[in-house]
Amino acid sequence: MRYWYCPRDDRIRPMKRSADGRCDICLQDCVQIRVKHSIHGYIMYALDIVAAIMIVLYLAHYQFDADFASFVRAVNEVAYIGAMFALIFVSFIFSGLDMVRMQAEALRIGREGRDGT
Ligand SMILES: [Zn+2]
Repeated sequence: MRYWYCPRDDRIRPMKRSADGRCDICLQDCVQIRVKHSIHGYIMYALDIVAAIMIVLYLAHYQFDADFASFVRAVNEVAYIGAMFALIFVSFIFSGLDMVRMQAEALRIGREGRDGT
Protein backbone atom coordinates (compact mmCIF):
# COMPACT_ATOMS: atom_id res chain seq x y z
CA MET A 1 0.00 0.00 0.00
CA ARG A 2 1.36 3.42 -0.95
CA TYR A 3 0.81 6.75 0.71
CA TRP A 4 1.76 10.34 0.20
CA TYR A 5 3.21 12.14 3.17
CA CYS A 6 3.16 15.93 3.30
CA PRO A 7 6.03 17.11 5.56
CA ARG A 8 4.50 20.56 5.89
CA ASP A 9 1.04 19.50 7.06
CA ASP A 10 2.30 16.28 8.69
CA ARG A 11 -0.47 14.41 6.94
CA ILE A 12 -0.80 11.00 5.33
CA ARG A 13 -3.15 10.19 2.50
CA PRO A 14 -3.56 7.07 0.40
CA MET A 15 -1.97 7.26 -3.02
CA LYS A 16 -4.52 7.23 -5.79
CA ARG A 17 -3.75 6.61 -9.40
CA SER A 18 -5.32 9.86 -10.56
CA ALA A 19 -3.70 12.13 -7.98
CA ASP A 20 -0.21 13.53 -8.41
CA GLY A 21 2.34 14.00 -5.66
CA ARG A 22 1.05 17.39 -4.61
CA CYS A 23 -0.55 17.93 -1.22
CA ASP A 24 -4.23 18.82 -1.59
CA ILE A 25 -3.93 21.44 1.17
CA CYS A 26 -0.64 23.28 0.64
CA LEU A 27 0.15 22.04 -2.92
CA GLN A 28 3.69 21.23 -1.89
CA ASP A 29 5.32 18.06 -3.21
CA CYS A 30 4.73 15.07 -0.99
CA VAL A 31 6.96 12.16 -0.09
CA GLN A 32 6.03 8.72 -1.35
CA ILE A 33 5.82 6.05 1.33
CA ARG A 34 5.33 2.31 0.95
CA VAL A 35 3.94 0.20 3.74
CA LYS A 36 3.47 -3.54 3.77
CA HIS A 37 0.21 -5.13 4.77
CA SER A 38 0.13 -6.43 8.32
CA ILE A 39 -0.96 -9.93 9.28
CA HIS A 40 -4.49 -8.51 9.55
CA GLY A 41 -4.41 -7.74 5.84
CA TYR A 42 -3.56 -11.33 4.97
CA ILE A 43 -6.22 -12.67 7.33
CA MET A 44 -8.69 -10.38 5.56
CA TYR A 45 -7.74 -11.88 2.16
CA ALA A 46 -8.02 -15.40 3.54
CA LEU A 47 -11.48 -14.70 5.00
CA ASP A 48 -12.61 -13.12 1.73
CA ILE A 49 -11.47 -16.18 -0.20
CA VAL A 50 -13.30 -18.54 2.17
CA ALA A 51 -16.45 -16.39 1.94
CA ALA A 52 -16.21 -16.34 -1.86
CA ILE A 53 -15.87 -20.14 -1.98
CA MET A 54 -18.90 -20.49 0.32
CA ILE A 55 -20.95 -18.21 -1.93
CA VAL A 56 -19.95 -20.20 -5.01
CA LEU A 57 -20.85 -23.50 -3.33
CA TYR A 58 -24.15 -22.06 -2.13
CA LEU A 59 -25.10 -20.89 -5.62
CA ALA A 60 -23.84 -24.13 -7.17
CA HIS A 61 -26.12 -26.13 -4.91
CA TYR A 62 -29.26 -24.00 -4.68
CA GLN A 63 -29.23 -22.48 -8.17
CA PHE A 64 -27.63 -25.18 -10.30
CA ASP A 65 -28.03 -28.30 -8.15
CA ALA A 66 -24.40 -29.18 -8.78
CA ASP A 67 -23.19 -32.55 -7.49
CA PHE A 68 -19.93 -31.28 -6.02
CA ALA A 69 -21.89 -28.86 -3.82
CA SER A 70 -24.54 -31.34 -2.67
CA PHE A 71 -23.04 -31.45 0.85
CA VAL A 72 -24.35 -27.89 1.31
CA ARG A 73 -27.79 -29.47 1.73
CA ALA A 74 -26.60 -31.10 4.96
CA VAL A 75 -25.87 -27.68 6.44
CA ASN A 76 -28.66 -25.55 7.85
CA GLU A 77 -29.31 -22.86 5.25
CA VAL A 78 -29.74 -20.03 7.77
CA ALA A 79 -26.56 -21.07 9.59
CA TYR A 80 -24.71 -21.23 6.26
CA ILE A 81 -25.80 -17.74 5.22
CA GLY A 82 -25.06 -16.50 8.74
CA ALA A 83 -21.54 -17.91 8.54
CA MET A 84 -20.97 -16.24 5.15
CA PHE A 85 -22.01 -12.84 6.48
CA ALA A 86 -19.99 -13.38 9.66
CA LEU A 87 -16.87 -14.06 7.57
CA ILE A 88 -17.43 -10.94 5.48
CA PHE A 89 -18.06 -8.88 8.63
CA VAL A 90 -14.91 -10.14 10.38
CA SER A 91 -12.98 -9.50 7.17
CA PHE A 92 -14.13 -5.86 7.28
CA ILE A 93 -12.85 -5.57 10.85
CA PHE A 94 -9.45 -6.99 9.88
CA SER A 95 -9.37 -4.70 6.87
CA GLY A 96 -9.98 -1.73 9.17
CA LEU A 97 -7.26 -2.85 11.59
CA ASP A 98 -4.87 -3.25 8.67
CA MET A 99 -5.67 0.25 7.35
CA VAL A 100 -5.23 1.87 10.75
CA ARG A 101 -1.92 0.12 11.30
CA MET A 102 -0.60 0.93 7.81
CA GLN A 103 -1.53 4.60 8.14
CA ALA A 104 0.20 4.83 11.52
CA GLU A 105 3.25 3.14 10.03
CA ALA A 106 3.27 5.48 7.02
CA LEU A 107 3.03 8.50 9.30
CA ARG A 108 5.90 7.20 11.41
CA ILE A 109 8.11 6.62 8.36
CA GLY A 110 7.19 10.04 6.98
CA ARG A 111 8.12 11.77 10.22
CA GLU A 112 11.38 9.86 10.45
CA GLY A 113 12.30 10.95 6.93
CA ARG A 114 11.50 14.55 7.75
CA ASP A 115 13.60 14.51 10.91
CA GLY A 116 16.48 12.92 9.07
CA THR A 117 16.79 15.70 6.48
ZN1 LIG B 1 0.53 19.87 2.65
